[in-house]
Amino acid sequence: MIVSKCTICGGKVEERVVSEEIRVENDFVVIENVRAGVCVECGERYYPPGVVDRLRNIERNIMNRKKLKKLDVIGSTYKLRYDATF
Ligand SMILES: [Zn+2]
Repeated sequence: MIVSKCTICGGKVEERVVSEEIRVENDFVVIENVRAGVCVECGERYYPPGVVDRLRNIERNIMNRKKLKKLDVIGSTYKLRYDATF
């Protein structure tokens, strides 16, 4: 555990397994099973050493796009203009 107290609000930070969403233009990749400290008050996340580097590395691979084909597709993304009739 990196911190036990949130540096933003002073709340308690608990270790959780979370999902991180990486967006590259219109594509989203959800990275599951990321270990992080999460503030129970404000939701701020704190990552153990190496996790941020690993996420950046994944992001670089997404940007290079060739590896996207290897991923499982779990849903679709739609867009709707806020002022559209819907
Ligand atoms: Zn907090």
